[in-house]
Amino acid sequence: MPEKLKVSIVIPVYNEAGVIEHTHKDLAAAIDVLPYDFSVYYVDDGSADGTAADLQAIAERDARVRLLFFSRNFGHQAALTAGLDHANGDVIISMDADGQHPPEMLAQMIELVSQGYDIVQAQRIEADSSLSFKKVTSTAFYSLLNRISGTHVSPGAADFRALSRQALDALKAMPEYHRFLRGMIAWMGYKSVILPYHEPRRLAGQSKYSLGKMLRLASDAIFSFSLMPLYIGLSVGGVFLILALAQIVYVLLLWLSGQYDRIVPGWSSLMAVMLIASGIIMILLGFIGVYVGYIFQQVKGRPVYLLRSPEKRGPGDKSV
Ligand code: UDP
Ligand code: MG
Repeated sequence: MPEKLKVSIVIPVYNEAGVIEHTHKDLAAAIDVLPYDFSVYYVDDGSADGTAADLQAIAERDARVRLLFFSRNFGHQAALTAGLDHANGDVIISMDADGQHPPEMLAQMIELVSQGYDIVQAQRIEADSSLSFKKVTSTAFYSLLNRISGTHVSPGAADFRALSRQALDALKAMPEYHRFLRGMIAWMGYKSVILPYHEPRRLAGQSKYSLGKMLRLASDAIFSFSLMPLYIGLSVGGVFLILALAQIVYVLLLWLSGQYDRIVPGWSSLMAVMLIASGIIMILLGFIGVYVGYIFQQVKGRPVYLLRSPEKRGPGDKSV
């Protein structure tokens, strides 16, 4: 009998008690009927509710489940990274724990990778045209990012995708501390295909992406994928130099033509120029500061996440 294709599924989980059981039931129903050798990696990203216990109960019932526990909340991208580091499949799929990534799509995603695609990216299609804070900010963010960085990341392309072993090995060789996986994967190239899908609502609970977490992801994306903020500094500096030069020429011309009475400088215009110029300088120094900070965190070489051993270690323990 030919060996079955090994498929790893990586699912980051943060405070999803009460949701994760449903998610796993739906996932199990979808993969039970597929002819592959599955492992499901749940990464508990330092949950503070009953998620860890729920996961252990799931692992006790289902032999395909492997568990990883973080020592604290390191964030979605770190949790994905941990799962991808441990996954040993020929096809590796990442998806969310809240039921928003339909497991019915897995069959087609795996099929496409076995046909030779390295990256199968699921892309959300917006069904309703209503505006929400999340939708507006995410659209604005992706159009900015795509304008200022050399890597194109599709809006609506979340962390729901299948990778071939080749693509995953390439990704694992990227040791950056600030991780924006969608961008890193788009940067890699490889043979890719996009699979559109309608995103269902969360099974239960609230989004675990707080505003702070969204801002951190946006900052990781912009400052690690673009040097544009630094170029803004250069061009604004250039414009200010040209303005200064024009002013010197203007004053010199007035002086040469003997119009001394018009040279008395206005206090308000002077203050305005000073305040604007110093404001711009401070913003640009801030941009440089962020890059220096990112470099500092990278050179420290700290791990992206830390694992802890699970609370209870028994014969049924499935943690890896
Ligand atoms: N998540 C995580 N760590 C975090 C925040 C979220 O592992 O710090 C997980 C969460 O449990 C879910 C996925 O990341 O499986 C996506 O989060 P969520 O559904 O809350 O984001 P949204 O769909 O609202 O963008
Ligand atoms: Mg979600």
